[in-house]
Amino acid sequence: MVRSIHPRTIQEVKEKADIVDVISEHIVLKKKGKEFVGICPFHDDTKPSMTVSPSKQFYYCFSCGAGGNSIKFLMEFTRANFSDVVLSLAKKNNINIESLDGPQDDAYKRELSRKEELYKILRISKNWFKSQLNNSLGKEAMNYLKSQRNLSSNIINEFELGFAPNSWNDLFNYLLKVEKLPINSILSSGLVISKDNSDKNYDKDGLIARSGKIDKLILNQALENFTGNSNYKKSLDVKDFDIFFAKGLSLENGAATISNFTATLIANGMKYAHKIDQPFMCKWLVCGGGRKNKYLLESIKDNFKNISIEPIDQYEVDGDFVESQAFGYLAIRSFLKLPISFPDTTGCKEPTNGGVIVKNF
Ligand SMILES: [Zn+2]
Repeated sequence: MVRSIHPRTIQEVKEKADIVDVISEHIVLKKKGKEFVGICPFHDDTKPSMTVSPSKQFYYCFSCGAGGNSIKFLMEFTRANFSDVVLSLAKKNNINIESLDGPQDDAYKRELSRKEELYKILRISKNWFKSQLNNSLGKEAMNYLKSQRNLSSNIINEFELGFAPNSWNDLFNYLLKVEKLPINSILSSGLVISKDNSDKNYDKDGLIARSGKIDKLILNQALENFTGNSNYKKSLDVKDFDIFFAKGLSLENGAATISNFTATLIANGMKYAHKIDQPFMCKWLVCGGGRKNKYLLESIKDNFKNISIEPIDQYEVDGDFVESQAFGYLAIRSFLKLPISFPDTTGCKEPTNGGVIVKNF
């Protein structure tokens, strides 16, 4: 078995394995102009939502957001890993398979082993969280899961539930001292952050945004791109919530423009839910992470005359708890392959499915 495939082979596969040939082996494609369309296999599709572009060698589903090249399609469709897909495509297209042996490929090998190490850290951490649920610290959480949520031991094991103790550095200490993992690898896994960096990328209370200036031109263009003539094609929870448009701006102006982009989309969603332009005197309680950003809340309010918008925590309800319940609800719907968006309230034209939940990471 070839363990590491040479980048040259991967490149040749990308060039020679035509996306239309690859996908039409599994689903029926119909020609439509320069492109092809078909029923998307990654969500409960009724009419063809998937477009396949021969010129871009790319597929994209307008309903669930699935997309990528021919390798990605096969990985998701056949649930095979990257190397297996590349190897099978190489054989099919008579491509010479080269493996990584020469010294010039050391950098590539290092990159592979770095990824393997990150996977290992995530796996070890997952097991650590699971073990915390079973020891004395997790006793209360375990009782809660069993008696109040009626989850059996089988379900707890199958979904690999864990418990995060109320501590800043337990996991870090375990990874460093017990598992003896290098500190740089632990940091680059993203599971812990160093104290020096902990506040750098976080706009606390919108202070950075407040000190910047909104770039109206970029903001309006971004809104137009996202909403497509102000009609929502999708709900806000799909993956193409892209803030790339702010890339050329300074940190402050970028934060101001992105915050207002977010605020305007949320405000439009609220207006849609009310079916009128100005909700009459009413109170909105918010539970998401954005509730901690006063600038964002004020920017949403700027879109209305008579509403008040407050963090739900003011009513002695834990916003983080409510949000996690809401996400848990969506995750379960997604797992059961039920739509996770609701056309009547979100304004997206069709129900969309969530991504695939990857089990046994
Ligand atoms: Zn789809």
